Amino acid sequence: MEQVDCVVIGAGIVGLAVARALAMAGREVVLLEAAVAIGTGTSSRNSEVIHAGLYYPPGSLKARLCVRGRELLYAYCAERGIAHRRCGKLIVATEAAQEPGLQALRQRAEACGVHDLQWMDAMQARALEPALHCTAALLSPSTGIVDSHGLMLSLQGDAEAHGAMLALMSPLQRLRRVGDGFELDVGGDEPMRLQARSVVNSAGLHAVALAAGFDGLPPQQLPPSHWARGHYFACSGKPAFTRLIYPMPDEAGLGVHVTLDLGGQMRFGPDVQWVPRTALGEEDYLVDPARAQPFAAAIRRYWPALPDDALQPAYAGIRPKISGPGEAAADFLIQGPAEHGVAGLVNLFGIESPGLTASLALAEQVARALQD
Ligand SMILES: Cc1cc2nc3c(=O)[nH]c(=O)nc-3n(C[C@H](O)[C@H](O)[C@H](O)COP(=O)(O)OP(=O)(O)OC[C@H]3O[C@@H](n4cnc5c(N)ncnc54)[C@H](O)[C@@H]3O)c2cc1C
Repeated sequence: MEQVDCVVIGAGIVGLAVARALAMAGREVVLLEAAVAIGTGTSSRNSEVIHAGLYYPPGSLKARLCVRGRELLYAYCAERGIAHRRCGKLIVATEAAQEPGLQALRQRAEACGVHDLQWMDAMQARALEPALHCTAALLSPSTGIVDSHGLMLSLQGDAEAHGAMLALMSPLQRLRRVGDGFELDVGGDEPMRLQARSVVNSAGLHAVALAAGFDGLPPQQLPPSHWARGHYFACSGKPAFTRLIYPMPDEAGLGVHVTLDLGGQMRFGPDVQWVPRTALGEEDYLVDPARAQPFAAAIRRYWPALPDDALQPAYAGIRPKISGPGEAAADFLIQGPAEHGVAGLVNLFGIESPGLTASLALAEQVARALQD
């Protein structure tokens, strides 16, 4: 049986960042990925936005790790030549009744350490984005976009350059506590059994289900698992905006917004569709073309000139949530030995947005939890 120091489960953006941080701290790391390639899950099914960190309860992990992660990410992208653009975004009130909410967002952002927001009236906002309808807007200059695949490849390269080993098509099937370490059964074409001193569960959508099968983890430590799908539509024609445009956030997401890819093309999304409990575990990424209608209605509130029939189904992603419909959004849950009492184990639960932005900061946090 092979003995290793650390095993990280899941090669999404967060698992890759964690593997990199641990390898760079001198630890021996094996990164297990069930799929045929890195980053095929939520990490390649998102808006690719580097968030400023203005939406989250002040002091929460989401707030702190988003602000820290954003700074780390811009510096890392600049250093490594990873394609990104600090394009800025406008959060818009489309009717006067939304303006107090926009003001509250501005105050929340201040409390989160985001001090660069600029309040704009409709004329000022339209001077920046002539196609926009709004009654007021907040400009966030430090919001940007990033090539998430370039980023993941770079993290993988760093991890491997520091000795980490990536095993693709290697789903973790079972984890047992043995002595003061772990025994892991790995499936796939070449099943193997590993012994490890530390394990990081970064399995995204499957992290809670995987943890439920861990021997030795008190069941009361498991959060609930909810999935919320978000669909995207592409938009043909010349892009109408040069910045990201966001409506006011809603209960489970940030609202159907305009994102831009690095080529400047527009896409819209994501909406929120809760996945029924009976379908949890099946990653269904189909985009029903009939959703174009509610999308168009949401988009026309801030872009009345959206042409008819311009929207085409693009892709979908699924949010790994640990709070359900109608509940207040839960914070990231980083469960280390201090929380669950199992030395050497860190579970990452509920790593939804802004997990991409926060990935490097999450990795710092995990490395610290394992050190402690
Ligand atoms: C619609 C949507 C939009 C978003 N937009 C943004 C955004 O603009 N900006 C932002 O900052 N964040 C955004 N996010 C959040 C961000 O995408 C996620 O937080 C981030 O990608 C999570 O990465 P991860 O590595 O934790 O999970 P994943 O990318 O899901 O990776 C988990 C990996 O674990 C693997 N795995 C699962 N089970 C096993 C097993 N048993 N054995 C081995 N491997 C296993 C999976 O195959 C997968 O590759 C968005 C999320 C969604 C859903």
